[in-house]
Amino acid sequence: MDLRLPRELTARVGGPKVHPMKFQSNTGNDVVVVGGGHAGCEAASASARFGARTLLVTHNPDTIGEMSCNPAIGGLAKGQLVREIDALDGLMGRVIDQAGIQFRMLNKSKGPAVRGPRAQADRALYRSAMQQMLAEQANLEIQPGTVEDLQLDNLGRVAGVVLGDGRVIETGRVVVTTGTFLRGKIHIGSEQIAAGRVSEKPAVGLAYTLKRLGLGMGRLKTGTPPRLDGRSIHWADLQRQVGDQPPRPFSFMSRPITTPQIDCHITETTPASHDLIRANLARSPMYSGQIESTGPRYCPSIEDKVVRFADRSRHQIFLEPEGLNDDTVYPNGISTSLPKEVQLELLKTIPGLQDARMIQPGYAIEYDFVDPRELSAGLELRKAPGLYLAGQINGTTGYEEAGAQGLVAGLNAARAAAGSDAIVFDRADAYIGVMIDDLVTLGTQEPYRMFTSRAEYRLHLRADNADLRLTPLAINASCVGSARRKAFTAKREALEQARRLARSLTATPNSLQKRGLSVNQDGVYRNVLDLLARPDITLERLSVLWPELAHMDPEIAEQIEIEGRYSGYMERQEQDIRNFRRDENLRLPASLDYDIVGGLSNEIRHKLDQARPVSLGAAARISGVTPAALTALLGHVRKYANSSI
Ligand code: FAD
Repeated sequence: MDLRLPRELTARVGGPKVHPMKFQSNTGNDVVVVGGGHAGCEAASASARFGARTLLVTHNPDTIGEMSCNPAIGGLAKGQLVREIDALDGLMGRVIDQAGIQFRMLNKSKGPAVRGPRAQADRALYRSAMQQMLAEQANLEIQPGTVEDLQLDNLGRVAGVVLGDGRVIETGRVVVTTGTFLRGKIHIGSEQIAAGRVSEKPAVGLAYTLKRLGLGMGRLKTGTPPRLDGRSIHWADLQRQVGDQPPRPFSFMSRPITTPQIDCHITETTPASHDLIRANLARSPMYSGQIESTGPRYCPSIEDKVVRFADRSRHQIFLEPEGLNDDTVYPNGISTSLPKEVQLELLKTIPGLQDARMIQPGYAIEYDFVDPRELSAGLELRKAPGLYLAGQINGTTGYEEAGAQGLVAGLNAARAAAGSDAIVFDRADAYIGVMIDDLVTLGTQEPYRMFTSRAEYRLHLRADNADLRLTPLAINASCVGSARRKAFTAKREALEQARRLARSLTATPNSLQKRGLSVNQDGVYRNVLDLLARPDITLERLSVLWPELAHMDPEIAEQIEIEGRYSGYMERQEQDIRNFRRDENLRLPASLDYDIVGGLSNEIRHKLDQARPVSLGAAARISGVTPAALTALLGHVRKYANSSI
């Protein structure tokens, strides 16, 4: 049964005018997404939300939404990505709100710019909530299958995908999101298994197809810890870690969390653990030379931690239950590829785990990735128009990084199918913009993960204001459903009303003094926002003076408090953003021939040619590109502005 909506939908594209979207494909599918991981789900959903007829082809639909490694979503900077995905009407935030079994705001005591929401997930609930949301999505079909090859037309543009059984699915836009599966190889001690994840076959044909396209490719590595049987852990001996009460949802659309909440526990490695690891280092594939590729620097294996931080005698381990009705426990912090018997010995050296039963050993996995500098900022491959890549295949690590790229790639594939321009987020719009700009401009030599330190405009790119920053863009880009549109409009009106109220409530220094608030006696009236700039003044305190403030919705009140507290810093940041955008607006033509730009060294010429930055600002971020080279580039672009270059 075909459940898709009629072919021509009306939607808002590129502005407030409503006009019918015309898709160019005369085959059955406007967009085909390959892979049902975190990138693939967001890609398929975004494409379908835009109105494109979308087909998701994945090995096994039952594994859609599978969390390959830790059962958690969010964290520092990653939490911001999830809120941004949600602000663009993506799925991850709403799914974790259904599946979350422990919610915590990290860095709660610090400023809002570096706070990161995180939630522990029930793996099975996460998978089923994701599968349910995709099943309910109009314009989207899901098909089990293995994509082995791609079809290109004689101009090198994508024309279809070839399945393992030889069938061809024609389409002009393909989004490949194959994660760790491209020529994936698992290592446990000296044992090597061809796999994309434990017990799942790798994607081999597609890896060779991408190579044949002449793409720069490399190999990376990641790893996972053993899984333990919770019934064999001595919980009473361990430190408890509780979640926030009440749990705070990720999604701007979610109601209060109703899923039951659990505690996690903390233990640590001991000197005996480290001795054991050192004694067996030569049996770890990373140290025996069996694995040569680079792993995530900020998420190292326990072998790596013991070697790199040789002076430390302990490393923390967070024991995270994998579900409400599941005894499996994920020991976060001891990712390893040591032989199975060494892993069993290792557990015996850790307090609380001395009798732990191992359900599945930890392992490392090596896989192919594509140099993301092959991509445009819209995540389309320059060498194969119509082919988009998102997720771990682009050299990133993490569900949130994958999901965010998937949303952008899926949306842009759908927009291209309808003849619309790509949506590109810049570094001042979103963490998504920071990540994609880093990837496509600088590339990566190790699995890339998001950090707040990567963003220049952190005060602006907060988790709490992701909807205010991005939902209007998403509405213009036609990827937002009507429920969110209505909720967002109502919130924006309520916020505007609250701002007006906050500006209208004023008092003289004298009257403030009388009511217990000492300020400079300069005779100047101060309003609520002015007063909130002082770190010791909260909205709660001010509502004693002005009781009408107590009636604000908590979400709106939080916004007002943050806006008041940081207004001085934000004004400065807004000036920085204006300067940044000035350079970003100096666009470099995609076809620019760097060989004819005078005044560039051969090295810089080569770097620019490889990265093909979209703007002068992006060129400046390439390491080794000097101010003199930027001046030469600017001179060239201005000189030839009206001729073809
Ligand atoms: P995936 O989630 O891997 O999804 C890929 C999907 O594509 C799968 O559904 C697969 O079946 C499908 N597929 C692949 N090839 C084909 C094909 N040819 N045809 C059809 N379908 C196909 N992240 C961290 O942040 N920290 C970590 O410590 C960490 N450790 C990890 C350890 C391991 C062992 C693994 C496997 C992953 C780890 N990750 C870690 C990474 C995290 O799982 C990924 O970043 C995330 O899942 C990537 O999402 P994705 O959508 O790109 O790919």
